[in-house]
Amino acid sequence: METLTNQLSDRINNLAASATLAMAAKARELRAEGKDIIGLSLGEPDFNTPDFIKDAAIQAVNDNYNSYTPVDGYVELKDAIITKFKRDNKLTYDRSQIVVSTGAKQSLYNVAQVCLNPGDEVLLPCPYWVSYSDIVKLAEGVPVEVETSLDTDFKMTPEQLEAAITPKTKMLWYSSPCNPSGSIYSEAELRALADVLQKHPQIVVVSDEIYEHINYVGGHASMAQFEDMYDRVVTVNGVAKAFAMTGWRIGYIGAPAYIARACNKIQGQVTSGANCIAQRAVITALEAPVSKIQYMVDEFKERRKLILGLLKDIEGFECNEPEGAFYVFPNISHYFGKTLNGTTINNASEFALYILEQANVATVTGEAFGNANCIRISYAASQDQIKQAIARIKKAVS
Ligand code: PMP
Ligand code: GLU
Repeated sequence: METLTNQLSDRINNLAASATLAMAAKARELRAEGKDIIGLSLGEPDFNTPDFIKDAAIQAVNDNYNSYTPVDGYVELKDAIITKFKRDNKLTYDRSQIVVSTGAKQSLYNVAQVCLNPGDEVLLPCPYWVSYSDIVKLAEGVPVEVETSLDTDFKMTPEQLEAAITPKTKMLWYSSPCNPSGSIYSEAELRALADVLQKHPQIVVVSDEIYEHINYVGGHASMAQFEDMYDRVVTVNGVAKAFAMTGWRIGYIGAPAYIARACNKIQGQVTSGANCIAQRAVITALEAPVSKIQYMVDEFKERRKLILGLLKDIEGFECNEPEGAFYVFPNISHYFGKTLNGTTINNASEFALYILEQANVATVTGEAFGNANCIRISYAASQDQIKQAIARIKKAVS
């Protein structure tokens, strides 16, 4: 009997694999072959989850938290999220507006599924986080890239926003602090964007604030804090980054109740809710004062200084100064058309591949983030690894 080899849907055939996860997998593969690869591709804190959070998880196991949870999250967790939103963001939500999911990635997926009809346009200021465009496409939406530049620190101006809006625009998605540029929209900058959005009341905003606490300049602003925007903003957040809990897979939204209800409905058919033990641990994480995780932010700040200093010494690496998150996003287009050690570099993907093969350093091409002139380097790695990696890159391009 003939074996069927491609009964896959157009949906999955047209989906790009996550470039960040693909690069991390490639680095793992090369390491297994014995290569000494330094992985600066994945946005994953290299710290352990703090003990007070691990203890809460152990306690939850012993307390027999083993049953299905409410689909949208334990009430105690929702209350901790409500308190966190009030404490850190001055945002008032009630339980009907909160949905806990299996990572912020699923929160974003849910929102796309419940808000988008085929052909709806979603504005994505570039560079944007790698998964936004494919999550939008999975919901049959149309990602619309909005170009930004180094001059504005990769932030979208009100004029750029206005020019990108069409009658089909349904949503705007952005992250602040931004993955991959590290840029942070100030309150005034968000207000100026909100003024444009006031003229287009059909547009729902997704404000991805997962790097909120990894901020080196202070002052985090949320789009939903503006009264005239509150009713059409979905605030996305999670514990993966600030609490070093990437594998625990908990993210959440604060949203207009009708959107939260819809996310609850889709989750009820897809996951039945997030993991019970992880949810209990996150209650403890969110109830703790933010000062408990400051040591990680302080270390990221040192690493940022280190990597920016080292990159300055490499010809053709043009960087903004990231204000948050743990990435640098240098423009390396200087190398396009040049031949390095017999390899001609035509684009950012080829540059990233060259760096992987010649320097044994894993980074991610900017193309995956909607910017074909840059690469993303994660500095969520030890200072020693950063020093070694940048020295190797310098050697490979000189
Ligand atoms: N948004 C941004 C901007 C991210 O960098 C990430 C990476 N993890 C996510 C969302 C998804 O987070 P989670 O691990 O909670 O799914
Ligand atoms: N958000 C991280 C990154 O951008 C983790 C990888 C992922 O979830 O795609 O590297």
